[in-house]
Amino acid sequence: MSDGGPAVFSLDLGDDLTEMRGWVHEFAASVIRPAGAEWDEREETPWPVLEEAAKIGLYSLDFYGQQYMEGSGLGIPVAFEELFWGDAGIGLSLVGSSLAAVAVVANGTPEQIGEWCPQMFGSPGEVKLGAFCSSEPEPGSDVGAIKTRATYDAAADEWVLNGVKTWVTNGGIANVHVVVAAVDPALGSRGQASFIVPPGTRGLSMGQKFRKHGIRASHTAEVVLSDVRVPGRCVVGGRERLDERLARVREGGRGGEQAAMKTFEASRPGVAAMAVGVARAAAEYATEYAQTRVQFGRPIGQNQAVAFMLADMRAAVDAARLLTWRAAWMARQGKPFTNAEGSMSKLVAGETAVRVTEQAIQILGGNGYTREYPVERWHRDAKIFTIFEGTSEIQRMLIGRAVTGLDVR
Ligand SMILES: Cc1cc2nc3c(=O)[nH]c(=O)nc-3n(C[C@H](O)[C@H](O)[C@H](O)COP(=O)(O)OP(=O)(O)OC[C@H]3O[C@@H](n4cnc5c(N)ncnc54)[C@H](O)[C@@H]3O)c2cc1C
Repeated sequence: MSDGGPAVFSLDLGDDLTEMRGWVHEFAASVIRPAGAEWDEREETPWPVLEEAAKIGLYSLDFYGQQYMEGSGLGIPVAFEELFWGDAGIGLSLVGSSLAAVAVVANGTPEQIGEWCPQMFGSPGEVKLGAFCSSEPEPGSDVGAIKTRATYDAAADEWVLNGVKTWVTNGGIANVHVVVAAVDPALGSRGQASFIVPPGTRGLSMGQKFRKHGIRASHTAEVVLSDVRVPGRCVVGGRERLDERLARVREGGRGGEQAAMKTFEASRPGVAAMAVGVARAAAEYATEYAQTRVQFGRPIGQNQAVAFMLADMRAAVDAARLLTWRAAWMARQGKPFTNAEGSMSKLVAGETAVRVTEQAIQILGGNGYTREYPVERWHRDAKIFTIFEGTSEIQRMLIGRAVTGLDVR
């Protein structure tokens, strides 16, 4: 019967994760959720909420570091689901810096992680942000075509960055920016590297700040890099590793992963968990509404048309979460995403969030369409999950390539 492998399969989170989930949920329910509508209207970074979170240690490198290192891999998905259950715009303000930190953690040296990641969070009373700048006005999905250039000035031991980045979360207001740039444009995506731009560096400025459809409490802006000079040690992973990699590629060998793609891969299950949080919020809200809203003398939830919608919503949320947990667990155990499981989680969770929040509006009827109720905001928020960190089409392309082995384009 047994092949000698472990007989245990469990989705039990265990005491530590369960306790952490309760703690984050409490903050999401008492601080984030009540502030959601206000910051959506203000379209500004909710600094007071970040401060509150910093005070209790929730907005801190320590907290995110612990969750990233958590043995099962579920620390981040569990925490992100709760934060985004509270509100996605505020949630993104709370986790945006951790996405930038991942760009350094995924490829950086221990010294770089130690020096720069803490500066992306600051401390209670002096909260700071980090930003990851990959997308450009022309290359969005096509990360390999990035035009921002990094050239090395050997005499000064400095890198010089020039280009324009766009749609950058925390762009221009972050303390530390991580910028993806082409070192050898002829090599396409394999000639790129990420660079840390320290606080206060001259030449980096904020361009246009975007007014958005959803997640409006999260700041999104252009970042203009004009002769930005950063110390030689600011190339993520170090100069030596970059030179070796470029040499390998020039000789026709494999040069490792693209800098930006590696960051996206590592962060996909986390982004999927954000979408699960929004979808769950909407499913729960619509369920409570359907139990109490009476038409034709009975709760609307007694109509199969409504109950079936609620059933589909719950099943979809749970399915998305299971894919998310699988991908996060695989990533933490070092199992390769042979069928693009990270992309599967992002694709299904993103599409689920859009569909479920739309169904929630339908169940709330006229109320659902007004700003008196949160579901219209959640629907606007949900749409981002089919777009950023790789659109749904890009996820399908990656899954398609993985499962067919063909060069699907
Ligand atoms: C609120 C917000 C926050 C963001 N935050 C950041 C950030 O912090 N850092 C950062 O670097 N970027 C960020 N982005 C950018 C985001 O990652 C890009 O918008 C996304 O990658 C898509 O690129 P694009 O907008 O240029 O779309 P395009 O690449 O122009 O795509 C447009 C459409 O064409 C489709 N398409 C493109 N290529 C293909 C293909 N090969 N096959 C099939 N369909 C295709 C896409 O799926 C999409 O539907 C953010 C964007 C937003 C809106």
